[in-house]
Amino acid sequence: MNSNANGTSRGPKEFHFLWTNWFNSIFPNDPIKTAIHEFTHCVQLNILIKKAQVELANGDKDQFDKLFEDKFVNKYPQWFWEAICDYEAGIVNSMSVKYGMRKHLSLKDLNKSNQIYNVGYTIIEYIVEKWGKDKLPILITSYVDINAVLGVSESDFEKGWADFVDEKY
Ligand SMILES: [Zn+2]
Repeated sequence: MNSNANGTSRGPKEFHFLWTNWFNSIFPNDPIKTAIHEFTHCVQLNILIKKAQVELANGDKDQFDKLFEDKFVNKYPQWFWEAICDYEAGIVNSMSVKYGMRKHLSLKDLNKSNQIYNVGYTIIEYIVEKWGKDKLPILITSYVDINAVLGVSESDFEKGWADFVDEKY
């Protein structure tokens, strides 16, 4: 991982380890899938850091780390941060998806819920099937601006995703 990423390790990473440790204690996990999931976090972080370095080119390194970390923790959606990693790793099964969808959680709910590990794969799957995989890097650099990148409101996106899952799982 890029050494500049060190300053960012507290916020999202902490959430990640908290929930994945909980998750792994209940469900047996596949070490290859876990490694791909982790690697995808690194890829996301490096894309975001590269973009931020262009935007914040004038600050010194300590200042950059702080500005980037603040923006990342406050603006990058936790649901997407985890969902894309499960998608790339192929972490999904229909029983868990059905269980995770029961409460009809919104994307905002999923920022704070471990159910993201049950349903996250299907959110990215929906994006890829409807809009194409090329949208994923654009979503990353836009801090997941669904409206601007996919041309739908967040609530229409949530409805479309729920219908997609109903049909497929
Ligand atoms: Zn994760």
